[in-house]
Amino acid sequence: MIEYREIREQLLDHREQLNRRLNQITREVRHSDGPLPSDFSEQAVERENEEVVDALGKAGRQELKQINRTLSRIDAGEYGICAACGEPIPEARLEVLPYSEYCVSCAEKQDHTG
Ligand SMILES: [Zn+2]
Repeated sequence: MIEYREIREQLLDHREQLNRRLNQITREVRHSDGPLPSDFSEQAVERENEEVVDALGKAGRQELKQINRTLSRIDAGEYGICAACGEPIPEARLEVLPYSEYCVSCAEKQDHTG
């Protein structure tokens, strides 16, 4: 069984970074909970910031989920095996798409079915 130690360490590293960034984002959102600036253009900027922060937070949380899922797949010995057909996923693919759960042909099928 391949342990994917390097990928695992990368994922753990990445998860830590993400957690830190998400904490920061959360703090920033709280900070902007105060009264809106009276100036209209400033209000617009503030709202835009909130939207960006919100989008970042969502993307970050989404990625955290993927990381956790991938880590548990590694721990379960399921990582690198296509979840649909059970064939090994080429390592080159995993390097580009470390979260992928499907081999190339199954991933394409999934795309077509949505
Ligand atoms: Zn497959």
